[in-house]
Amino acid sequence: MILETLQPLATELGFSQIGMATLQRPFSMDVYLNWLKEGHHGSMQYLQTHAPLKENPDQVLGEARSAIVVTLEYLPHPEPDDRLSKIEHLKIAQYAKGKDYHHYLKQRLENLVEKLRQTYPHHQFLTFTDSGPVLERDLAYRAGLGWVGKNSCLIHKNKGSYFFIGEILTTLTEDTETAPHPDHCGKCRRCIDACPTDAILENRTLDARRCISYLTIESRETPAMDLRKGIGDWLFGCDICQQVCPWNEKNLGDLVKPQKQDRQKVFDELRFLLTSSNKSLQKHFKNTPLSRAGGFGLKRNAILVAVNLRATELIQEIETFKEHPKLGELANWALTELGQTQLSQ
Ligand code: SF4
Repeated sequence: MILETLQPLATELGFSQIGMATLQRPFSMDVYLNWLKEGHHGSMQYLQTHAPLKENPDQVLGEARSAIVVTLEYLPHPEPDDRLSKIEHLKIAQYAKGKDYHHYLKQRLENLVEKLRQTYPHHQFLTFTDSGPVLERDLAYRAGLGWVGKNSCLIHKNKGSYFFIGEILTTLTEDTETAPHPDHCGKCRRCIDACPTDAILENRTLDARRCISYLTIESRETPAMDLRKGIGDWLFGCDICQQVCPWNEKNLGDLVKPQKQDRQKVFDELRFLLTSSNKSLQKHFKNTPLSRAGGFGLKRNAILVAVNLRATELIQEIETFKEHPKLGELANWALTELGQTQLSQ
């Protein structure tokens, strides 16, 4: 009944799925707590802080008993942003190829809440996406929106996994329970085998400290030596474990295939990142996901990509970082690597 009321507006707002789950201890809580204990979350301390609420989702909002969960597909991107044309030949994760979803997904969830408040004025609602103290993949699974694949993404048999998840915690309850989506990973291990930094663990979690997304977005450090080559030419984030997944191939076809890039254009865009001030990069990418990495992160990533693409054309630009307090070591390593490339050419 609740979902039937919401469905037309949800479709109008672009949500591809909507479901509902009761709030209870997440089925994956023990695995999650162990993941934190092992330190696989790296420097994302807020995940540790949120753990008690994640374990007791009914304590996040007073008398909340359920979550209305939605998915919003991002391939093709629902909110493209022209400013990203400055780096359109560089490899960035699909979700990041537009405006920051924390804003527009939250806004669309608020639009749903407006409708809910009109229909159920005596109930409470609270929206979350990504960074809230809620294990949203767990909720989405129980709401029947997909299964958690070996790559740790939520996957739907007829949609793939390129979608955001958003949720509305509410005091409303639904009588009917949705059947969970069956697991279709089977014997497949494509994502595990394809991950260049061996970040995917056997228990369907990731060691964030090895994951290219973490290393190029969340981390405020330069990556350890043994991970630098594995980052390849990913400037921001990574989609490899989704690109190789047969359920994305089946549902999205050519959209998930890596595109061949013009080397000269790639180098021009790396030059733009390496020669712009941190302040101007922050200003340029404001309200896009790229602002999360900041000027330091984008330059760090640009140096790594330059080395991995053997871009000796960028030696001069990288030399300017030799004495940099945070990038100096990486720049000197890059210059040694690129010097060897020059000798072998
Ligand atoms: Fe599952 Fe294979 Fe997709 Fe990995 S690539 S998530 S194992 S179906």
